Amino acid sequence: MKRRDFVKNTGLLLTSAALSGYPTTIFGKNKKGKVLILGAGLSGLSAAYLLTRSGYTVTLLEARSRAGGRVFTYSIQDNLTVELGAEWVGASHERILALCKELGLSLQEHRFKEEVFIHGSRRQLEFQANWTKKYENLLSAYRQMSEKEKQKLDSTDWWRYLVNNGIEEEDLLVKELLDSTDFGESIRFVSADMALGEYAESSPNNEMDFKVVGGNSKLIEAFVQKVGTENIKLEHIVTKVEQGKFGIKVTCANGNSFTADLAICTLPTYAISRIEWLPHLPEAKQKAIQALQYARIYKNQLLYSERFWQRENFAMVTDLLGHYFFHTTQKQNYVQGVLTSYSTGDKAMVLSSIPESARKTSLENDINTMLNANQKVQKYVGYYWGSDKFTQGAYAIYGKEQWYSIRPILKKSFGNVLFAGEHVADWQGFMEGAINTGEEAAQAILT
Ligand SMILES: Cc1cc2nc3c(=O)[nH]c(=O)nc-3n(C[C@H](O)[C@H](O)[C@H](O)COP(=O)(O)OP(=O)(O)OC[C@H]3O[C@@H](n4cnc5c(N)ncnc54)[C@H](O)[C@@H]3O)c2cc1C
Repeated sequence: MKRRDFVKNTGLLLTSAALSGYPTTIFGKNKKGKVLILGAGLSGLSAAYLLTRSGYTVTLLEARSRAGGRVFTYSIQDNLTVELGAEWVGASHERILALCKELGLSLQEHRFKEEVFIHGSRRQLEFQANWTKKYENLLSAYRQMSEKEKQKLDSTDWWRYLVNNGIEEEDLLVKELLDSTDFGESIRFVSADMALGEYAESSPNNEMDFKVVGGNSKLIEAFVQKVGTENIKLEHIVTKVEQGKFGIKVTCANGNSFTADLAICTLPTYAISRIEWLPHLPEAKQKAIQALQYARIYKNQLLYSERFWQRENFAMVTDLLGHYFFHTTQKQNYVQGVLTSYSTGDKAMVLSSIPESARKTSLENDINTMLNANQKVQKYVGYYWGSDKFTQGAYAIYGKEQWYSIRPILKKSFGNVLFAGEHVADWQGFMEGAINTGEEAAQAILT
């Protein structure tokens, strides 16, 4: 059984068990009740889309002045767009692919061919032959593992697992650089089960396959149109959630309050922890909320007057602060182009401590050194998710012994509030996961 299947089954069991305690006026009789959705990111919007189509009255409360949350397309120059949040749509991500089709959105290929730069020198992205063979065997062995074996694996971190399996130092360095790009933090903080599961079960490009033409926010715009702007209350920071015989009452920082029969909370754990819950969230849930970490990612966009890196699908992973550089505007018909620096973990945190002009110069110099060029950045835009006001991180990162213990607790409903969002998804860390959990919560209301 795949890790995802196992978790999916567990998740469903938990949801239905939790739901059995709810009033049958809402659950079981398909009553068209009022539903509040906290957060208008992909999870909240996909729940809202499903519910409104089924005749429910839905109100979304969103803290920011825009919908989309961690999906955030930015026009850096006219129609030349970059992603400050989610970048890739994965080839295995069935729901987002189907929704794009349903909503009339086109996808373009967004794959890259990576080079590795260490100490400023280009190096082959090839591991030693004996490690390549061993790694393939480890991936195939994972696909055959029992659920118990996977849970055992979850008690080891990915770095230690690789070392214990005989990876040599040079290969380990490259593996750290590549895999910390995926997880957003050092592989020392990632559970071996999470990592091996990810690499054994993902698309060959590790879900870095496509993007929405015109930017991923086109998907958000399409959802907003379907749900209706009048049902999305922007600049509404939820501060209090009260539950009682009256149903649910949600109060926002601007003083507005809303009542409903049910709520779906799609907020990241940091945001959940800032809310006053009456009655209080169960202790186990509070502890789980405190335990989960989010990856520190800094996305830096560097606009150049020409695409001097020569290959449209250019990318390089490096040991420098800018970490992973790639040509994000490939297939956008402009002379100008943008190199994105995707900096993770400690590197991202250090970059965030440098003043903006020095950060731009540092990235510009590093690119010039590596590519033997002398190019000037025309415009720089950066976004550090590590200090995002509502997330304090890019996406959740499950460390060892967390996936099977705290994830079910985070997902479990509380009174008439269901929980959804990227952090509780089987496809955790992905747009697909946000959509899956939003739809799952909506489905639980509809059934
Ligand atoms: C830098 C980065 C790179 C990524 N790369 C990829 C990628 O390549 N591919 C991929 O598939 N995924 C990627 N992701 C992950 C993807 O963006 C997320 O999984 C997904 O967008 C999360 O959606 P969500 O609805 O669960 O959460 P969010 O999008 O965070 O939505 C939650 C919403 O709640 C709002 N909110 C917070 N607090 C409050 C409050 N108190 N009151 C009201 N509203 C509140 C927030 O503003 C937000 O809009 C990336 C994310 C980041 C940050």
